[in-house]
Amino acid sequence: MLQIRNERVVSFSLNHYDVFWEIEPTTEDIQQYEFYVERSEAEAGPWDSIAGPLVDQYFIRDNSVHSITTNARTLYYRIRCRHVPTERVIYSSTFDRVGAPNILATEMIRLERVLFEEFVGVRCWLFPRRTFGQRCPSCFDTVLGKTVEARCTTCWGTGFSGGYHYPTSFWAQIDAMAESEQVTVDDHRRVQMAQLRCGPSPGIKPLDLIVDHQNRRYRVVEAGGTSMSGSLVRAEIKMVLIQKGSIEDKIPLRVDTSTVVLVPPRNFQNAQTQSSSRAGVIDVFGMYGVKS
Ligand SMILES: [Zn+2]
Repeated sequence: MLQIRNERVVSFSLNHYDVFWEIEPTTEDIQQYEFYVERSEAEAGPWDSIAGPLVDQYFIRDNSVHSITTNARTLYYRIRCRHVPTERVIYSSTFDRVGAPNILATEMIRLERVLFEEFVGVRCWLFPRRTFGQRCPSCFDTVLGKTVEARCTTCWGTGFSGGYHYPTSFWAQIDAMAESEQVTVDDHRRVQMAQLRCGPSPGIKPLDLIVDHQNRRYRVVEAGGTSMSGSLVRAEIKMVLIQKGSIEDKIPLRVDTSTVVLVPPRNFQNAQTQSSSRAGVIDVFGMYGVKS
């Protein structure tokens, strides 16, 4: 089976993206393979096939991006490779305009990932909000050009059919912010903000929905972070708790509650203790030769 490498997206135009990929040198008959280019607004899909089948071709120009590229939207690509006689299929890794991080950024991301997954994080789920696609067939009024039903369960209030892309599970640290009451002459409002930090994947943008390990549901209002050589190494997210009873509470999240791990199991066998620092090379400090 072929192996895909060096996949990348490059463009200096608002009208198109150039998508390139290569294969590892092989002795197989490459005429028996077909390539398809798939694109999504979210790292986890759903994926649209935008080109293919391509035979012995390693470049396409995606001309359909001019109407859908904005500063707030990231398009992800992957290459699907099909071996025609056996029907076997492999995929490349998912890639976007940012490209692969360099080795220093990769190490930073790996260390932070250890931190979030094994020490300070909790399991969360990201629902990337749809920002283009099919309008909601239930509540979108084509004459008015807007949704006319705020509690629509076809689009969950987003105006696009389905509302969100597939959810992605990830580890993140959540800091609760001070509870505050906004008092005006007319009414009182309780706005509960929270801050979340996590690695660069999955990519989070404003208005996305985040569900934490206690099924608290948050709306992202600000997404930033720290970069190294052009690659995001840590995301810092500001978000607001959604009021109980909102339409977002009805969005189903299918999790196997009997097996899901919600907090890091390593919390209970801390690597700094004398016994566990001798545990082996995969130990977070043992890896650097630190012995008690
Ligand atoms: Zn709707």
